[in-house]
Amino acid sequence: MQTIAIDNVSKSFGSLNVLSQVDFTIAQGEFAAIVGPSGCGKSTVLRMIAGLETASTGAVKANGTPITAPDPSRMLIFQEHALYPWRTVAKNVAFGLELSGVSKKEWSIRVNEVLDKVGLSGFQKYYPHQLSGGMRQRAAIARALVTDPEVLLLDEPFGALDAITKISMQNELLRLWEGTGKTVLLITHDIDEAIYLADTIYVMSPRPGQIVERISTEMPRPRNRNGADFVAVRE
Ligand code: ADP
Ligand code: MG
Repeated sequence: MQTIAIDNVSKSFGSLNVLSQVDFTIAQGEFAAIVGPSGCGKSTVLRMIAGLETASTGAVKANGTPITAPDPSRMLIFQEHALYPWRTVAKNVAFGLELSGVSKKEWSIRVNEVLDKVGLSGFQKYYPHQLSGGMRQRAAIARALVTDPEVLLLDEPFGALDAITKISMQNELLRLWEGTGKTVLLITHDIDEAIYLADTIYVMSPRPGQIVERISTEMPRPRNRNGADFVAVRE
């Protein structure tokens, strides 16, 4: 399992200073969130943890080792368009396995297991356009979960969903995370979402992007917010 450290990171694209001295740590098993206005550098932070960008100064580390490349143990999930429209649900999910060393024999077992987990068993042969927005998002999450990553990086994953689907996906995410030891970093525009889901919230301000506040959400999570029987309260 992984502790992620953002050690005094600054980042420029050419003359544009995007991040300035961003410094925080997400403990293993912690659910952290970043909120902040558009363009303040949230996705850039996430992409660095995913190994898709490098810091101009400072370092991004997993368990003390600098992150230099993407790794299947750290999965980035973004909005639903991340599904390949020409691949079935099963083939989309299996794509996550192509990056890991799992043998082809194991693929369909793993794919079916994870689709079951996100409530999509029976939809293996559907194409993305045949699913609702919420189901597509579940499929995208299934694809990220199929390798059983230690770190989940979520870039506004529920932004395009209607309110009801959003709440059910939020609860689903809590259910998939709780007690697993996975480290989660969620980016969201939605402060209520951050308060509902995260242990710790980092507030960023733009030009250049900086962490201006760290908030611990010590309140237990509300019970049965959407009337479902799922309860996500930690003692
Ligand atoms: P956020 O996710 O908070 O909306 P981003 O991290 O996507 O912000 O972007 C922060 C700033 O960095 C924006 O001004 C964006 O245009 C710029 N930016 C992001 N990636 C690149 C890139 N690869 N090249 C140049 N500018 C970039
Ligand atoms: Mg972004």
